[in-house]
Amino acid sequence: MKPATVNHSRLLKAAAQLKHGSSLVADRIIAENPNGSNSSWSGVFRKLRLQRDRLHDDSSPRIDKPAFSVFAKGNSKLPFYAFSSMAILDCAGYGECGVWCYSKQAWRNPNAAGRQISNSMLLASEKGRRLIEDEFMKLPKGIVFRLYVDGDFDSKATLKFWMELLKRRPDIQAYGYSKSWVELVALHLDGYEWPKNYLLNLSSGSRHDDGLKAVVAGLPITRGEFIAVPVDRRHIKSGAYKSRHAEGFTDYAKAVRSNSDKPRLFVCSGQCGDCLPAGRHACGDEKFRNVPIAIGVH
Ligand code: SF4
Repeated sequence: MKPATVNHSRLLKAAAQLKHGSSLVADRIIAENPNGSNSSWSGVFRKLRLQRDRLHDDSSPRIDKPAFSVFAKGNSKLPFYAFSSMAILDCAGYGECGVWCYSKQAWRNPNAAGRQISNSMLLASEKGRRLIEDEFMKLPKGIVFRLYVDGDFDSKATLKFWMELLKRRPDIQAYGYSKSWVELVALHLDGYEWPKNYLLNLSSGSRHDDGLKAVVAGLPITRGEFIAVPVDRRHIKSGAYKSRHAEGFTDYAKAVRSNSDKPRLFVCSGQCGDCLPAGRHACGDEKFRNVPIAIGVH
């Protein structure tokens, strides 16, 4: 039998159903290739379906093993612990970014998509949230933590869940990017006391207007904007934007500055572990409060 094909709209439909406890599309994907390997689409959906069954099994109060690891340990570009959930499905404020969303590239890999979906499912249920809590409390001491590489706060409840969790681990330095501005402002208007160990970057591509953006910019957790600036293709082709040590980075940074309308700007160099001296990173650094960070469009 021909292996299952899973385009983006089918994947999002399957993910949305699993998040809410149904596996109709997942069942079909599995049936199209019942003996597929664990890393095939059908293998990944078999694991997710089993997790769905466990999450909705009322005879057991806990689930002790996720279908995919909850936290990623990081890589050479982003050497921090990180959490992701299903992009677009969980992005409460996505707008034009839904067209060019870089998370979709990860969906070519069934395991990468499965990891995002698994976390969306966990966040959507009490049992799953307890598992995330348990895993979060086990993270090593004093780490830098990127809250959402893919995905975003899908609701005020999810936002509050994460903020409360961060308060329980004040040793962890967390940061992230969000377009869930309605949810952020709604929680703030409740009189919520924000954790001291989370910094928020306002990224572009949101569905919301500048008025709401200005309100979010004034929240105590907000570091500042992260913006994309068009630059000549040659800076991108040469790879100069990939590291502050790369040949041509200085020229690239000049081009970003001169093409932007911001009087003061920090130019992102792409390698978060080598962004500033001494292992500091601008997006999660108090000293960069209110300093726009910019990257050349690539
Ligand atoms: S400015 Fe630094 S921390 Fe922020 S994305 Fe760029 S490299 Fe990473």
